[in-house]
Amino acid sequence: MYGMPGAMAGGAVRSPFLCECGGLLDVVREWSGIDSEQLKRVWDERLSERMTPYAGGVWRYKELIFPDLEARWITTKYEGNTGLYPSESLARLAGVRKLLLKAQSENPSGSFKDNGMTVAVSHGRSLGYKRFTCTSTGNTSASLAMYAAIGGCSSHVFLPGRHISPNKVRQTAAYGAELIRFDGTYDDGIRFSERYSERLGLYVCNSINPFRIEGQKSIVYEIAHQLGWQLPDWIVLPGGALSNAAALGKGLLELKQLGFIDKLPRVAIVQAEGASPFHRMVAGGRSVLTPEANPHTVAFALNIGNPPSWKKALRSVIGGLNGVTAAVSDAEIMEAKALIDRSGIGCEPASAASLAGLKQLADRGIVDAEETAVCILTGHLLKDTEAVSYQENLAAADLTWESVNGLLSRG
Ligand SMILES: *Cc1c(COP(=O)(O)O)cnc(C)c1O
Repeated sequence: MYGMPGAMAGGAVRSPFLCECGGLLDVVREWSGIDSEQLKRVWDERLSERMTPYAGGVWRYKELIFPDLEARWITTKYEGNTGLYPSESLARLAGVRKLLLKAQSENPSGSFKDNGMTVAVSHGRSLGYKRFTCTSTGNTSASLAMYAAIGGCSSHVFLPGRHISPNKVRQTAAYGAELIRFDGTYDDGIRFSERYSERLGLYVCNSINPFRIEGQKSIVYEIAHQLGWQLPDWIVLPGGALSNAAALGKGLLELKQLGFIDKLPRVAIVQAEGASPFHRMVAGGRSVLTPEANPHTVAFALNIGNPPSWKKALRSVIGGLNGVTAAVSDAEIMEAKALIDRSGIGCEPASAASLAGLKQLADRGIVDAEETAVCILTGHLLKDTEAVSYQENLAAADLTWESVNGLLSRG
């Protein structure tokens, strides 16, 4: 597929990740010789590895992610291997019997983008690419810059003028990426890289890259592995570009098809109200997405009006898994974030849409009080420090025993 781009007008070359119809490509494998019980034993044994690529939570599952990649191209920082934390107080708050939080925020660059990016960069290197690119203002660029550096390659990140998350751009710069500022929107940047990257010798790591989807399947593989191959009733995740939702759906359907699990969970995709074109489509019973021209939400990672992977998410999550959608307000997101932070787990605002959405779905009776759920936390607390204020926690005291004791004895 890659390396056989079609010609396009204007001397451009079509992105190898776009179909002739303009849609996205999917990695489809002819599975043969997969013995689920034997592979589960192999994956269990790999849990004790330390310094091989299989010690990480993505390449451990290589057989279902990129079986034919030569090991020397694997570009890894032992991503995945993230905690799955039960919380009784958050379960009570959401209104479900049992709730676990899957902290993808614990990835090496601080977001779930690492699960996919390790595979995309490994794939690009195996094809001989030395330069990698994406258009992003956030976690994608930080993850790309990190893996490009680990692989001894360069990264070139297109930054649209507006909507930049300062911490994430600084992190990207720190890993050595070249930052290319341009006057235009995120969509302009994507269109440019789709048309010209091939001629510029750049390997494109935008969310259209199907190898990122393959890597992100590992999130649900790891959840299943951690839970002894018994998944909860619901998995809830935030949706922006919908690549993670598409990956989750694809990964779950493959696990079932190949006999790793008996029962599929249902999946809920939660969008921010100000950027919820997918939710509006599903809730309206439509099957064509109308983009949102001016998306706006405090959860910057969800601020996407025209999600590239909506067809994949519709097919796998809504069609294949009887999934649902929800939209939550910025106030609900920030309230949920504060609770997740105070529980000691912590996350950036976009991640908290999952908990806010679960609560809403339970309030509406779509999720039953007797059911169990996993919420996926996509990004780290420190990714967006502007979203945290310490004023509420601030007290003043004289440094005397009486004064401090008085403070600690309050109500
Ligand atoms: C990218 C991102 C999302 C959205 O995931 P999509 O695959 O774009 O739907 C959510 N939260 C965080 C922290 C992200 O970085």
